[in-house]
Amino acid sequence: MAQEVSEPDLSTQAGRERFLAEASDWEMISGSGQTMDVGPQMRGAVAVFKNGVIVVASGQRHRPQVNAISVRARHFGIARIKMLDAEKDFIEELYKAFGSTKPKTNWRALDLERQKTLSRIIHEAAEMRASDIHMRVLEDYTEIKIRVNGRMMEIGQEPSQDGQEMIRAAFAVAQGQGASGTDSTFQQGAMFANSGLLPENVEMLRLQYTPTSEMRGALVMRLKYVSKSYETDVDSLGYSLQQATDLRNMRLKTNGMYIFAGKVSSGKTTTLQRCLNAMFLDKRKEISIYAAEDPKELELLGAIQAQINAGTNAVTAFRDAMKAALRSDPNVIVLGEIRSEELTSMAIEAAKTGHALWSTVHAGSALGILNRLINLGAEREDLKDPRTVGGLIYQRLLGVICQHCRTPLSEALDNEAIDADLAERFARLTGRDMSQLYVLGRGCDKCFKGLTGRTVVAETIRPDARLLEMYMDESRVKAEQYWLTPNEEGGMGGAPVMHHALIKAGAGICDIDEVQGEVDLLETYERELSQLVPRLRRDIDALLAG
Ligand SMILES: [Zn+2]
Repeated sequence: MAQEVSEPDLSTQAGRERFLAEASDWEMISGSGQTMDVGPQMRGAVAVFKNGVIVVASGQRHRPQVNAISVRARHFGIARIKMLDAEKDFIEELYKAFGSTKPKTNWRALDLERQKTLSRIIHEAAEMRASDIHMRVLEDYTEIKIRVNGRMMEIGQEPSQDGQEMIRAAFAVAQGQGASGTDSTFQQGAMFANSGLLPENVEMLRLQYTPTSEMRGALVMRLKYVSKSYETDVDSLGYSLQQATDLRNMRLKTNGMYIFAGKVSSGKTTTLQRCLNAMFLDKRKEISIYAAEDPKELELLGAIQAQINAGTNAVTAFRDAMKAALRSDPNVIVLGEIRSEELTSMAIEAAKTGHALWSTVHAGSALGILNRLINLGAEREDLKDPRTVGGLIYQRLLGVICQHCRTPLSEALDNEAIDADLAERFARLTGRDMSQLYVLGRGCDKCFKGLTGRTVVAETIRPDARLLEMYMDESRVKAEQYWLTPNEEGGMGGAPVMHHALIKAGAGICDIDEVQGEVDLLETYERELSQLVPRLRRDIDALLAG
C-alpha cells in the first residue's frame, strides 16, 4: 500500500530536509539497472519511490518521458502515485542518497510469485473449460470470475494490490504490447505456451486490460484451447437434420457467398472451420483455399492463411489481402468479416466470378444478413441472384442441461424457481405436461452447475430466386413469410432460430429461461409464429425419439 505523505514544499530548504527525513526508509526503484530502468539523461528529471512518490524536475511533469515513467510505475503495481516538483540538483542528490542501495523488492521474485497464482487460476479455469477469466481489481479486493458455458461465476478473491501485480506479471510474460509501452490506457497481449503458465490443453490466452478508476484496472483473458486438429464433424454441433443438410449442400458449391451471423461466442468460428476442413477432404484436397482474417482464428487444412496486421487500418489491410487472394487462383476465399463497403463489393465480385466466399457479418438473423449487405453498399440486383447469395446462417449457443440433475418444470414451478407465466406458456406451446418438461438443475457430480456443455441453435437458408426477389423488391415481411411457409404449401419450409431453441427446450436439452433470455421471447413466437406450433410439437417428438 502507498504510504501517506504530507506534501513538503521541495523548493525550500526546510521542505527538502523534511522530505529526506521522512524518506529515510523509502526504497527508490528508478535508476540504471533498477526495476524502473531510468537512463543517465533522465536522472536529473525524475526519481521514483516504491511507495508511489515520484519527484519530478520543475516544469517537466508533462514531458512524454516523465509521463511514460509514471505509466510504467502503475504497471509495476504501484497503485497510488504522488508527484512532487523539485529542482534538478535535488533530484540528483536523491540518486546519490538512495540510488546505490540494493533494491529491497525483488520484482522478478515477486513476479514469479504472482505468476504462480495466475497459473493456478488459469489451470483451474481450463479444467472447467472456461472461455474467459475476468480479473477486476476493486478497492478492497480483486474479484476473479470465469465464464463457463456462457455463464459467469466467481472462483475466488485476491487482495487488491496482488491483483494489480498479477496483471503486471501477466503482461511481463505476454507478447504484444508490453508493460513498457507508453499507452497508459488499454493494453492487449497474448500469452503462449512459452510463458510456462498455460496448461497443456490451452494454446493461447488473449489479454485485454482496461484501466478503471483510481489506477486500478480489469483484465479479461480469453482462453483458446488446443483444437483437436482439423476436425470436420459439423453435424454433431447441434444443427437440425435440415440445417445439417443445408450446410452440406453449401459445402459442395464452388461459387457464391456463404455468410454466417451471430454474436461473439456463437460458435460460428468452430462451424466455419469444420465446414471448410470437411470441404477440403470431401473434394479430395483438390481445391485451394485462401483465408484472410484478423486475428487468425481458423485452423484450416491446406489453406493459404494471409497474415493481416490490420492495426488501425483494417480496411486497407483487408483490401490488399483480398486483391492478393483473387490473384492467387483460389477456389474458396475465407474472409474473417465483411465490414466495409469496399470489402462487400470485392466479396460479391469474387462470388460472381467463380469463387466460393465464406465470411461473417454482424446481423441478428439469417435474412438480416441481406439487409446488412445492403447497408454495406451491396447492389440489390447482385443480391437477387441465388448463385451469388448461396447460403445464410444465423446461430447462437445455448447451455446443455445435465440429464442427471435437471428439474421437472412442475417442481421448479412449485419452488418458484421459474416464472409462472413463462412455465405455462412453455407447456402450452409444446403441448406437454409440466412433469415432462425440464429446467436447469442445481448441479451434481456429473455436471458443472447443472450444465454439461453447449449446443448450437440456428437458422439456415439456401435462398432461391423468389425469396431474394421478394426481399429486394417487395418486403422483408413477405420474404420471411415465404421462407416460413411449408414446402407443400409452396413455401421454403424454413424455421427461425427460436423454433430450433424451443425444440431443444421442449426435449429437455436446453433451459427455457436461457432460451427466453438469449434467443427471443416466447410471447413473440406465440404471437407471430403460431402456424409453426404443430410442427414444433412434431419436431420435439422426433428429437426425443432420437
Ligand atoms: Zn448434473
